[in-house]
Amino acid sequence: MRRAASLLLQKAAAAVRESATGRAADGLAVLQRRASAAAGGARKGGGPVRRPAEQMHRGRGGAAFEAAPVVLTAEELAARERTNYLLGAGLIAMSAYGYYIVSRPRGGDGVPTPSPEHLVNWSGTHECQVQRFYQPETLEQLEATVKQAHTTGRKLRCVGSGLSPNGLAFSEDGMVSLGLMDKVLDIDTASGQVRVQAGARVQAVADELRGHGLTLQNYASIREQTVGGFIQVSAHGTGAAIPPADEQVVALKLVTPALGTLELSQDQDPELFQLAKVGLGCLGVVAEVTLQCVPAHRLLERTTVNTAREVRKAHAQRLRDNKHLRYMWIPSTDTVVVVTCNEVAEGQEPAVPASKYSEEQQLAPLRTLLRSRLSAEQAAEVGGLSATQCRDRLLALGPLDAAWVKRVNQAEAEHWRRCEGTRVGWSDELLGFDCGGQQWVLETAFPAGTIEAPDGRDLAYMDELLRLVASHNVPAPAPIEQRWTAGSSAGMSPAAGAPGSLHSWVGVIMYLAELEPEQRQAVTKSFQQYAELVERQLMPKYGAVAHWAKIEVPSDPAQLAAMQQRLASRYPVAAFNAARRRLDPHNILGSPMMDALLPHTAAPAEAVAA
Ligand SMILES: Cc1cc2nc3c(=O)[nH]c(=O)nc-3n(C[C@H](O)[C@H](O)[C@H](O)COP(=O)(O)OP(=O)(O)OC[C@H]3O[C@@H](n4cnc5c(N)ncnc54)[C@H](O)[C@@H]3O)c2cc1C
Repeated sequence: MRRAASLLLQKAAAAVRESATGRAADGLAVLQRRASAAAGGARKGGGPVRRPAEQMHRGRGGAAFEAAPVVLTAEELAARERTNYLLGAGLIAMSAYGYYIVSRPRGGDGVPTPSPEHLVNWSGTHECQVQRFYQPETLEQLEATVKQAHTTGRKLRCVGSGLSPNGLAFSEDGMVSLGLMDKVLDIDTASGQVRVQAGARVQAVADELRGHGLTLQNYASIREQTVGGFIQVSAHGTGAAIPPADEQVVALKLVTPALGTLELSQDQDPELFQLAKVGLGCLGVVAEVTLQCVPAHRLLERTTVNTAREVRKAHAQRLRDNKHLRYMWIPSTDTVVVVTCNEVAEGQEPAVPASKYSEEQQLAPLRTLLRSRLSAEQAAEVGGLSATQCRDRLLALGPLDAAWVKRVNQAEAEHWRRCEGTRVGWSDELLGFDCGGQQWVLETAFPAGTIEAPDGRDLAYMDELLRLVASHNVPAPAPIEQRWTAGSSAGMSPAAGAPGSLHSWVGVIMYLAELEPEQRQAVTKSFQQYAELVERQLMPKYGAVAHWAKIEVPSDPAQLAAMQQRLASRYPVAAFNAARRRLDPHNILGSPMMDALLPHTAAPAEAVAA
């Protein structure tokens, strides 16, 4: 039992607050994911969470640990869930008294005792049986752990919350989690900067900052990432003038295998600093991060539903006029949900109607369609489902039946029509949204001109993508999400570019939640074909690269070679790999995925033994 139990409590409480202040569906989703973590009981630090194997495949998303994969009968599962809830309740009670058992370092080397673990990512698409899993509590323990791995030549990959859809952090030989190094160390209100341990969760940082009148510049659709994972993959929100998260990094403390702990900033080794901000866990373990914040602010969110033609007409102006702009294209319908967010001064919140429809009316198109396909007994449960839960269940009735998926999309379009309206809230509450359950996703980023002169390639990409979906009869569910960022100065960011450059991010998706194992396999295969279509027909033409947390290694050697070439032409791969060789000559931080995407020559074996 660990300190994490109390952290989990704080987070669950925050989720309750969110659900009270935000859109009910958003709050519910966050709460459910965290509730499943609480039920798992033996959660370790801020990292992924243990939970029963059945839940792993049937539940909504959520990073998971499983000590040993098991298949349970329904009765066994129910009994296990009861036990887990009791264990969770025990953890809650004990953490209220401030009682935790913390892993102690073994021997005099300061390295915490590792344990074997079974990890599953949030999407349930990647898992890994790791032999040695370390959870240092202090910088000294982390340094000792990295040093030992370097000396012995044993792998050690850092994991954050394990949210990356491609399991980017996974490595079977050895992993280190900063789940117990999750403190906010210092908030400097004069400079507006915050220094955190890299295991701190984004939401926890946002919560602390709020009390000091500060917030992060932007947020992704979820806030459960660790700060380390958030910056290492160049995570992004939306806003044509706002770069990805790594651009807010002012300084890094990087624990490297060969050169020990480095302090990096624009003044201290700027070249390495720019590479290490988006280091993909390959240049060192980020122990601390200093981030530039902005004043805490409230946003007015406006949701409208447009046709593609209406979107095209207003697009360039919209990009300039709105701080945050997000489109959700609903395939096989002429519907684009347009969500804008702009700052409002406190006390000057406009008297705008929230929505013409009650929540019940908004959900009616999805719930009615679902009820029409269920028995009377099953239909009685539909009243408690959110929009994304309805979507998951509807799609599970025929995930690869393009005509059925189209009907579900039509119901979703009508749902969004009824959601037109506005709401006001703190930026960290409004910028997230409910992404639905477990899923396959491919998100690509490509240049789209500048904010002053967008080149129109963002909408051209969407036109082509929707045409491909139609002509190949892809059972593509909603939404295809399109967002924008400004350029990042980090060479390894998918949005690397000048500050004024404009980059569009487009994500295609297929859901896995609620599917039986054979359906999951079939959907996985279908998604691979969908992704291949995007990779072959669109990405080269638009100079697009995949989000680092959403790139998958192709099994076909020719496709892999093409991908390696594309990555090498977009990123400073030679400089990155040179830094890898200098900081991590034995490639202990690499993984099969990283080595396949960014082929890297480690130091010869005899050097490892030396
Ligand atoms: C539901 C959902 C919604 C999402 N929405 C968005 C979105 O809106 N925008 C977006 O950009 N992304 C989004 N993502 C992706 C997600 O933001 C990234 O995968 C995330 O930032 C990973 O954070 P993590 O802490 O889980 O890191 P992990 O997945 O655990 O690790 C990611 C990478 O960071 C490295 N790493 C982690 N911590 C450290 C450290 N301390 N030192 C060195 N390396 C480290 C790992 O080695 C790995 O390479 C979403 C993912 C999910 C599941």
